Amino acid sequence: MRFTFAFLFFISASIFAQDYYPKDYFGNPLDVTLVLSGTFAELRPNHFHSGLDIKTQQRTGLKVYAAASGYVSRIKISHYGYGKALYITHPNGYTTVYAHLSKFSPEIEAFIKKLQYEKESFEVEVFPNTEDLIVEKGEIVAYSGNTGGSGGPHLHFEIRDNAERPINPLLFGIDIKDTTLPVIKEVYAYPMDNNSYVNKSNEKQKLRLIKLPNGDYTVEHIEAYGKIGFAIESNDRQDLAYNNNGVYNIQSFFNGNQKIDIDFQRFSFDETRHLNRFIDYGHYKTKNERLQKLFIDSNNPLSLYKNSDNRGIITVEDSTSSVYKVAVKDFMNNTAWLTINIEGKKEAKVKAKDSFASSYYIYANKANELLHKNVSVEFYQDTFYEDFYMDFAISNDTIKLHDDSIPLKKSFKLSYNISNFNTPDADKLYIARLVGYKNYPWYSNTKREGNLLYTHTKILGTYALVADTVNPSIRPINFKDGQWLSKYRYLKLKIDDEGSGISSYRATVNGQWILMEYDYKTKTITHDFNDNIVSETKNNLKVIVTDNVGNNSTFEATFYRK
Ligand SMILES: [Zn+2]
Repeated sequence: MRFTFAFLFFISASIFAQDYYPKDYFGNPLDVTLVLSGTFAELRPNHFHSGLDIKTQQRTGLKVYAAASGYVSRIKISHYGYGKALYITHPNGYTTVYAHLSKFSPEIEAFIKKLQYEKESFEVEVFPNTEDLIVEKGEIVAYSGNTGGSGGPHLHFEIRDNAERPINPLLFGIDIKDTTLPVIKEVYAYPMDNNSYVNKSNEKQKLRLIKLPNGDYTVEHIEAYGKIGFAIESNDRQDLAYNNNGVYNIQSFFNGNQKIDIDFQRFSFDETRHLNRFIDYGHYKTKNERLQKLFIDSNNPLSLYKNSDNRGIITVEDSTSSVYKVAVKDFMNNTAWLTINIEGKKEAKVKAKDSFASSYYIYANKANELLHKNVSVEFYQDTFYEDFYMDFAISNDTIKLHDDSIPLKKSFKLSYNISNFNTPDADKLYIARLVGYKNYPWYSNTKREGNLLYTHTKILGTYALVADTVNPSIRPINFKDGQWLSKYRYLKLKIDDEGSGISSYRATVNGQWILMEYDYKTKTITHDFNDNIVSETKNNLKVIVTDNVGNNSTFEATFYRK
């Protein structure tokens, strides 16, 4: 068996060179009609979606099948993100990923529970050996769920190549019924420098879309001059789904010549955050619309551009009439066309762009440090995509670091020296980002070194020091102290912390650690008596919950089983 794997890995290397995707190698991971609530590379917060989200009929517990034979190469259980996730590596070099699972098949479940009890942790990650958990195509490997960052029951399914790059699973012959045209919802024109303008303005301009009876689009007549880029908001609905998904390909043409070809076939996890450079990030943060730029800004390392001419930017000359076209396609090649007729017109005077200036100019390609009394902010080199004036202000311990309309490539470090705090609460302080109009203090992962509190974060905004002096709360959900629980399958408690949030929890019965699965969405921890770890008649349950500044609560109860 091991020999076969090694041999097939070797020949797969030459297949990848040609971007050849086998069409009948992978079977469906579910035995229901595949309806997608999410498509590959669709636009998500700070990332492109790396797989398909397959609907599970609003239920959990659907059988999940190995899409092809192979071995379980990784199992990861985390509170957030993928929740319970299974990775199967196949002899052709691809790996399939199944995420947000409720549980695994009995054999895999036993394997992972053994590790959880050894490590005394619900969250675990393991890379089994090739011979530990071998699976056949079509074998039940897990059950669908809603664990981790999932917002409703579904199966997240991925196919990765041997360089861990996710590939659009539809390229492997997975069939999704789609005869519906993509939709264009917004279109904007961007003057790309100070000497360019659209409709007599140097500001980006929203163009009024006109939808034609055949599903194509045009816009009201525009005048422009100079270097112009465009951006659109678009999505695609598939026949069996009511929700909107992402599109597959976007191309633009200027007077018949291709300007850009954006292709959502494959990307790498290293580049997924640069989605924030692909969309108009400031527009997204203020209007909640993801405008996809049909031009490539500076410092945009994305590999999604299959072709581009002058970075997708057009040059409009005086006294010309030209036509700019956009083709938006879904995977089935249904195409919506947008036609923009442009009259080239040089103006004597245009409306200048509004601009903000401050005494804090940030150079994107340099390290920048802001210091004020007990606060320091360190931006490392290449944290930002472009130079800008930062809106920086401090009053007491509240520090304004611009706002969240500017995307960051990497974290910066914000530090407070708290040696002047002599209050008893000094050891209960944490760094919070103030969010919303009520300035809700959102815990930012805070580290402490003596009198220094610091956090690493990728979000600009307003930060403050906040004290959390309240202990976490713990209460039983499905039992009472002193109760007989012989017929119970589960033991459930609700745990919560209002200030800094829960950092850890630990549950024991008669002094022995028991596995409790934590679901942050319902604030529930659950023990499954089928783990067969509780064997006495009289049992003392003890649960300790600790928050992010170290406050802790202990809950104790007695229950009986036989
Ligand atoms: Zn997903």
